[in-house]
Amino acid sequence: MSWRMPLDKYKIGSKFGVIDQWHKAPGHRGQDYFGFPAGTPLKAVNDGTIVINKWSGVLGWVIVLKVNDKCYFGYCHMRIQSKLKVGTKVKSGDVIGQAGTTGSASSGVHLHLTGGKTAESVFVGAQFDPHKFLTDKIKKEKESIEATTETQNPPKTA
Ligand SMILES: [Zn+2]
Repeated sequence: MSWRMPLDKYKIGSKFGVIDQWHKAPGHRGQDYFGFPAGTPLKAVNDGTIVINKWSGVLGWVIVLKVNDKCYFGYCHMRIQSKLKVGTKVKSGDVIGQAGTTGSASSGVHLHLTGGKTAESVFVGAQFDPHKFLTDKIKKEKESIEATTETQNPPKTA
């Protein structure tokens, strides 16, 4: 189990909760990433199971990754339908789809990543900020690895 970002290289687009020219109240329901071409591999943010693989008129091709019972991530606007069937188990970093711009809510190649506490809430309702969630988790893992390394290898003193 190890957390990572869904893309190797990206720029930060519209943030979770913003209200702007593209997003009306109650605000943007996910985090947008851009700055990569169509077809760029989208990667599992952790070990998990594919629980939804479907077309949405608004969000285009969508795949939903379940990491645990309270933690689901939706990858939206994918170029083509993911080949992974519902029920497929994946490891952190496995490619689960390709970036694209499908769906009526997309105006250019980007990943709209959503976070929900249930599979369906990645689309509506009780969503969390997936970017804040991931960056917090990655930071904590890094800190705990550093702490472990220090314990195992105490600095040598002359
Ligand atoms: Zn978005």
